[in-house]
Amino acid sequence: MSRRQGVIRRERAGVFWLEAEVISATGRVIHAFSTRRGGVSEGPWSELNLGHGTGDRPERVTENRRRLLAALGLAGREFVTARQVHGSHLMVVSGPREAAAVAAAPADGLLTASSAVALAILTADCLPVLLVDPRRSAVAAVHSGWRGTVQRIAGRAVRRMTEEFGSAPADLRVAIGPGIGPCCYEVDWPVLEQVAAAFPGAEDTLITPVRKGRALFDLRAAVLYDLKETGVPGENVTVVEECTACQAEWFFSYRRDGQSTGRMAAVIGLREGTGCREGKGYPEETGAGRER
Ligand SMILES: [Zn+2]
Repeated sequence: MSRRQGVIRRERAGVFWLEAEVISATGRVIHAFSTRRGGVSEGPWSELNLGHGTGDRPERVTENRRRLLAALGLAGREFVTARQVHGSHLMVVSGPREAAAVAAAPADGLLTASSAVALAILTADCLPVLLVDPRRSAVAAVHSGWRGTVQRIAGRAVRRMTEEFGSAPADLRVAIGPGIGPCCYEVDWPVLEQVAAAFPGAEDTLITPVRKGRALFDLRAAVLYDLKETGVPGENVTVVEECTACQAEWFFSYRRDGQSTGRMAAVIGLREGTGCREGKGYPEETGAGRER
């Protein structure tokens, strides 16, 4: 895995993950884009598979989640995932007691101002997107495959952070995590039509035709475009340019390996003392109020 601008590779107790400096530098959150290295799973799920429902043994997934949170210094936090369905629905997580309900709910983006949970998005080619508002102490995690991307779920998450927490888009720090790169992501005409409809005037920068009815789609560029149009400055966004399909030793890839593969997690949690322990929204005692 090559070294990229603004992206740091970290390791603890054999668990490897990536961090974006643009997020670490806020000092407000702990975050990670996991790799496949450092867990107890075997075979096609080796090693750090974090997704249940992948064919892997559940107790191994649970142990892998425990190891990742321990390595990050988030031991004991509730690992909160949603039932990802390639839609654009976003859920606000008030606290750890909601974890079971959130896990059963169809949603592809989670938001919180609670420092008692760790939000997690599971992927194996789709893009995970982590967002932080260091002023309002709020975070979001989003799952953006092609369907989520053409529904512009990253931009929706920005607007929802504004509604829920009073976030100003210009304050946000965002990292687009490892996913399938434009090198490997060939798509067909029905997808290309939806890309063109979702990003009118920008499709030529997102799509590279390869043969009749087929083209390479740059998911990262599309999410970055969406974020910028929503008001997030480009310099506040880091794009992790590792391609999950190219790098079998580091990442799971659904397109490369098919049904039997693991999932990476993009995890984010507010540091203790920066968010609220319970309750929806931004803590009132800061006196910051809401801005629209
Ligand atoms: Zn690739």
